[in-house]
Amino acid sequence: MYTEPSAHRIDPASGAMTGQVGRYQKRFADLAGIYADSAAFADLVKTRGEEIAYTVHEVRPATSHGDLIFGTTFMEPGKVGDEFFLTRGHLHARANRPETYYGESGQGLMLLETPEGETRIVEVAPRVMVYVPPMWVHRSVNTGAEPLVMSFCYPADSGQDYGIIERSGGMASRIVADGTGWKAIPNKQYRRRSADQVAAVLASCDRGQDDL
Ligand code: ZN
Repeated sequence: MYTEPSAHRIDPASGAMTGQVGRYQKRFADLAGIYADSAAFADLVKTRGEEIAYTVHEVRPATSHGDLIFGTTFMEPGKVGDEFFLTRGHLHARANRPETYYGESGQGLMLLETPEGETRIVEVAPRVMVYVPPMWVHRSVNTGAEPLVMSFCYPADSGQDYGIIERSGGMASRIVADGTGWKAIPNKQYRRRSADQVAAVLASCDRGQDDL
């Protein structure tokens, strides 16, 4: 009747986690439309389209209210044009569910955005804990020369809304190379969310148990 306690050893280099239950992967070819430089993206897909861009290892003890989902994410380093590799990103389908990310290896950042389009950028590195508060759209960016590996944890009833980024033409900021570092520049394709779209995000917080 009680779930068994467990411990999970994480390999900081690969993100592999003992006792993991699920895994999903995105190939470079799966990431069409997220980068500004479509010609550079087409070149990447031609040469590396079937390679894995990022892998998520996870444990989902239960999907009920109050439980947690936790795991790791492994991201390859690199750029499309001058834009660093990133994850598709999402807002939680119940938007008021938070998340933590903890740096295991590599260098990168969490790109965050409110429903109204305000941006925050938080750097992540080994032994840095990042807090993604309720209501923030978030995606990871690998700004380093090595893989970026992070562990994460979020409420089991969060769900993911990936469409929210697509519908706005991406996030408001893009992260590009700047000398040996990075800088944020405006995303020219970005369309601010309407008042109705923002209201729909707020309404998502009250979704029922079976309503994701
Ligand atoms: Zn999340």
